[in-house]
Amino acid sequence: MKISGSIEETRKQVKEWKAQGLSVGLVPTMGYLHEGHQSLMERARRENDRVAVSVFVNPMQFGPNEDYEAYPRDLEHDAAICEKAGVDLIFHPEVEEMYGPDFSAYVDMHTLPEKLCGASRPVHFRGVQTVVSKLFHIIPADRAYFGQKDAQQLAIIRRMVMDLNFDIEIIGCPIIREEDGLAKSSRNTYLSPEERAQAVILNQSLEEAMKAIEAGEKDAAKIRQLITDKISACPIAKIDYVEVVSFDTIQPIDKIEHPVLIAIAVYIGTTRLIDNRILM
Ligand code: AMP
Repeated sequence: MKISGSIEETRKQVKEWKAQGLSVGLVPTMGYLHEGHQSLMERARRENDRVAVSVFVNPMQFGPNEDYEAYPRDLEHDAAICEKAGVDLIFHPEVEEMYGPDFSAYVDMHTLPEKLCGASRPVHFRGVQTVVSKLFHIIPADRAYFGQKDAQQLAIIRRMVMDLNFDIEIIGCPIIREEDGLAKSSRNTYLSPEERAQAVILNQSLEEAMKAIEAGEKDAAKIRQLITDKISACPIAKIDYVEVVSFDTIQPIDKIEHPVLIAIAVYIGTTRLIDNRILM
């Protein structure tokens, strides 16, 4: 397995693979890898001749008061996980390699980024789209793998690829969870033991919503209320948003009609966690 911080070297390697007729899968990450990332890599491994993983904490997608500096980093641990998953190349650039001193271009979009995480993180998706576009140019893969954990991100990347004619297939992968149902996240490491115990409220509230929908509930407002009530009963949880939206447009809907995304963001103490259910 090769680790490269150089755009030129990485591009050369991927071009060589393509010249040999080999297919390439790309898994973009911010590192501090866990079983969620691993599931993406394993799927990429199964479906492609070569697998590249990018490990880059992208400053452009963090707001001024967010956790860019504090975001956990451990390349040695990440490399061990990649090696085990059969990854061929880790692209791990410095910030200066990705963003030169006069960097001034970006990729943005109307509508899809406005609600959910975009409402409380106004520059986030512009940063995500820009870095993912750069990665797709540096590593022109056949397929790129994204988790449904970041459902809005997945919808935005799909739309960006369609609208801007990127020649790459976007594969959405299911959410990997801890045994008690908490969605795996690099940010779970911020939680104190008490917060960690309470964090299950995200998944539990979504589980109750799914039961209500299965029992025939079609009113999106009632589903939102049910989730809100359940989370509000937890004293250290503070809701950022509870939304029921169309998974295609990320716009609120009144009636549960597929494809629907039920998405929540909740502060447990000072740590902001997200979770969701998608009904296709
Ligand atoms: P991140 O490093 O948080 O930017 O995540 C990199 C990729 O891994 C994104 O496509 C995420 O959606 C995906 N991912 C993160 N956590 C999980 C999880 N628990 N299950 C599945 N995919 C995940």
